[in-house]
Amino acid sequence: MATGMAGVRRLPLVVILGSTGTGKSKLAIEIGKRLGGEIISADSMQVYKGLDIITNKVTAEEQSQCPHHMIDFVSPLKEFSVVDFRNMALPLIEDIKSRGKIPIVVGGTNYYIESVLWDILIDEDRNDNSSSGEELVEPEGQGPSKKIRKRKLLESTGVSGSATKYNEAVVSPGEASKGSRRSEERPELQFCNDAGVRREDEHSCKTSLYDKLREVDPAMADRIHPSDSRKVARSLQIFEQHGKPHSTIIQEQQQRPGGNAYGGPQRYKDICVFWLQCQRDILNERLDKRVSEMLNRGLIKELLNFHREYNYVLAGKNSEAKYTEGIFQSIGFKEFHNFLIKQQGKDFDESNASVEDKSLLKTGLENMKTVTRRYAKKQMMWVRNRFLGRPVSSAPDVYGLDATNLADWNNSVLQNALEILDRLMKDERPVIEPLPRVIIQEDRHARHVCEICENRVILGEENWKKHLQSKSHKWHMKRKDREKQLNAIKDL
Ligand SMILES: [Zn+2]
Repeated sequence: MATGMAGVRRLPLVVILGSTGTGKSKLAIEIGKRLGGEIISADSMQVYKGLDIITNKVTAEEQSQCPHHMIDFVSPLKEFSVVDFRNMALPLIEDIKSRGKIPIVVGGTNYYIESVLWDILIDEDRNDNSSSGEELVEPEGQGPSKKIRKRKLLESTGVSGSATKYNEAVVSPGEASKGSRRSEERPELQFCNDAGVRREDEHSCKTSLYDKLREVDPAMADRIHPSDSRKVARSLQIFEQHGKPHSTIIQEQQQRPGGNAYGGPQRYKDICVFWLQCQRDILNERLDKRVSEMLNRGLIKELLNFHREYNYVLAGKNSEAKYTEGIFQSIGFKEFHNFLIKQQGKDFDESNASVEDKSLLKTGLENMKTVTRRYAKKQMMWVRNRFLGRPVSSAPDVYGLDATNLADWNNSVLQNALEILDRLMKDERPVIEPLPRVIIQEDRHARHVCEICENRVILGEENWKKHLQSKSHKWHMKRKDREKQLNAIKDL
């Protein structure tokens, strides 16, 4: 590939987005091989060891074609947060660039990608340096990731303690937390989550926390729904750690050079985002087929082994298996819960299986297909909202590549991508135009209190409109009317 005069080529940060089944990994490898790039996987499930099939990891053969980073190196029993990811990915990107190579970020997890592209996370308190020199989670994989020294990591992130201390992912509201069920964000403050807490107590606890937030950070309280205890707890925690309101911190981020209403500034100047698109119905078909392929590759065995090795143990005698942390949140895994439990740690032999077992397995597969489709849909909305919905000045251009027809993939995806990159690296304008920006009018933080419905709080214009049309609102209206009439009679 021609790259202009030797030594003057620009090295953009390449980001590849798109659903499973659009050939994202393949495009990354082809670009890496041809232009000298290294791949950084931005997938919150693929960082973990295990569940290779269900999390769609690239094969060893694929990995041998081009260096891959951030895959398959964290123990399934450890938590790995978006802050951990960012703290490793940023120095890694610098390292790859310093060697004259192109960093290629291949996305699966929205907030991982956002944490790399924009300065949006709020760190935990970093005063404690007693644990410096402690072990960091480090990629054990092949290639240059090994060369990333702890020291370098610590310096570049300004952290003196261990990166693993950063177990809390804090994100500006409406930022990365939106639309991802695979989120690792969880309330560290377990005010109300003790087993045995009754519903009413839980409710009053929620209310008092919200009241507390209203006291210390009214601006933030306005933006959070009172029943969203996770966000309420997070903002309170930030207030405690930083000694200033969460809303103030966000405001400071936004006021930094390059920042805007969406959060902190974009980190890199040269970013090239490819979005592999595919017609919905064709994609859905392909995703279903993908699940069948996983079956052929040994999905059931993988699930059973993993469940036996980890979840069975974690579940203990009385408690539930866990599906809300780390790799256990993988798409599809919990969908097989009933099947896995029923197997009681035994292997599955289809020829000998009972009708019930077979049906549990079938249900698991169907559910997995459903969540996979749903996730793909969410991803599309995310690109639209977080990239195309931003002003040009605060989000990189996104180049759409049509991956609908896989037979034509080499032309419609690969050749177009190479063409665009070639131009960008020569600092020329690509012939293919980036996708147009969309204007998203909805104000998600608009706050309404419905007095008719006993002061119910509703956030967002869209939700407010829906509420006014809802059955429950109309029911309350009728009730109010009746009360009025009754009072009028009394007053007579
Ligand atoms: Zn109402």
